[in-house]
Amino acid sequence: MIKELVVATRNKKKLEEIKYMLKDLNFMITSLADYDNLPKIIEDGLTFKENAIKKSATIAQYLGKFTLGEDSGLEVEALGNRPGVYSARYSGKNSTDRRNNQKLLKELAKVPLKKRKAKYTCSVAVCDSHGLLGVFEGTCRGIIASRERGQFGFGYDPIFLIPKYNKTFGELGEGIKHKMSHRYKAFVKVRNFILGLDRQRLNPQHL
Ligand code: IMP
Repeated sequence: MIKELVVATRNKKKLEEIKYMLKDLNFMITSLADYDNLPKIIEDGLTFKENAIKKSATIAQYLGKFTLGEDSGLEVEALGNRPGVYSARYSGKNSTDRRNNQKLLKELAKVPLKKRKAKYTCSVAVCDSHGLLGVFEGTCRGIIASRERGQFGFGYDPIFLIPKYNKTFGELGEGIKHKMSHRYKAFVKVRNFILGLDRQRLNPQHL
């Protein structure tokens, strides 16, 4: 049986969401904050998938533990799919969620709402000390709003508008986000995969 899953992230909001998605699984979920002297992970992949694998494989190999790496971000059609893998550091070295949102709104200032199509992607890689076990992805489509709206979520949520509700994820809150987000869609697959692994006891080294 799997006893511990290390989530290779330091993003508290992301970790909270991941814990919620996997809440009915019967093992301890830890993160990079629970370990010292970990190797530095350089996120230089050109795709979310590459970065997710890098995070997961680096930590799984170092700790010898069952590890999940998650890389996610926002692609805006009118910006040639930027910021993409650079979503977290979109406004430079001192990026914050607020600065990233302001920069994006500025870049789209002259783009009408109907041309502000955007997509969140969440890519998740699951590794053990022997290597990669699986990669899973989920996407969620929306529109970039004309201003920040709402206090919930994190990152680009205050400007990520869901047309069906005419509200941003920042306004909708977790009740709705957790049922339709890119992370939710990826983690439905991740959860089933982990349950299968556990059931088949394919990895007796984790017993
Ligand atoms: P990562 O930690 O390198 O994967 O960076 C992910 C970045 O993408 C975050 O810092 C956010 O800017 C953005 N992002 C990913 N998922 C979400 C989400 O669910 N809501 C808002 N922003 C997100």
